[in-house]
Amino acid sequence: MLSPRQRLEQQLALPLPRDPTLVLVTDLDGTLLGGSLAWRRRVYAWLQQHREQVLHVFCTGRDLASVARLLEQDAVHGLVAPHLVIGDVGCTVACGHSLAPVPLAVDPIDARWLGKPERLLPLLQGAAGLSPQPLSSHRRLAYYYDPEQFETALVEQIEAHGVDCLFSDNQYLDLLPAGVNKGSTLTALLGLLELQPHQVVTAGDTLNDLAMFETGLAGVMVGNAEPALLEALPRLPRTYRARAHGCEGIVEGLRHFGFGALLSDLD
Ligand SMILES: [Mg+2]
Repeated sequence: MLSPRQRLEQQLALPLPRDPTLVLVTDLDGTLLGGSLAWRRRVYAWLQQHREQVLHVFCTGRDLASVARLLEQDAVHGLVAPHLVIGDVGCTVACGHSLAPVPLAVDPIDARWLGKPERLLPLLQGAAGLSPQPLSSHRRLAYYYDPEQFETALVEQIEAHGVDCLFSDNQYLDLLPAGVNKGSTLTALLGLLELQPHQVVTAGDTLNDLAMFETGLAGVMVGNAEPALLEALPRLPRTYRARAHGCEGIVEGLRHFGFGALLSDLD
């Protein structure tokens, strides 16, 4: 009888680090892709050198096609594939290398999304201040919204269908199966992987990262965090507000949480 971790590794078709010192869970835009290019290159090189000690997870609003494009484009800066990807704001979990979805983690989310688009689309079509994002719509719907025009009364009607509305960066509106977000999916994944909370550090910069910080895991709010996320800081006791932006902020946060020794060879 295989353990959940063994089943997950079987579905990933690649072994994960046996005994990582750190599980680093990073948002992409504004976080792992944020900060100066010099700092980004340093951090990407460091991640590449520490693949056995640092289990790296992307945790992003991007869909898998967009993650694939990014890995291709930013290879020039040294960005390498993570071990795992949480995409679609928590609605997708995939192998970092093949970007193939992992059924063990995705099937329960699929079940919660079943039938939702059919009920939601009639409400959303033609709604003021909304335009669809050009994304695949696996287990979520993604829109741009205009804060001036969008009618907030629509939120209640949408959420009555068992869906959460998630606003981020003053421009993105995601409709997600109720209770599914970056934090819930990360927590479920850590459980499957039998990883301990003290090994984990998360990092993010916008409101869709709030659910990660609310898990109570160590979190780094990078210096360029959006004001709406900053407002939540006083009720996030395990979240460290970095001064530095993007990648430099991640490093500042890792030192804060006692991972300085692991960073000793950061060039
Ligand atoms: Mg971001």
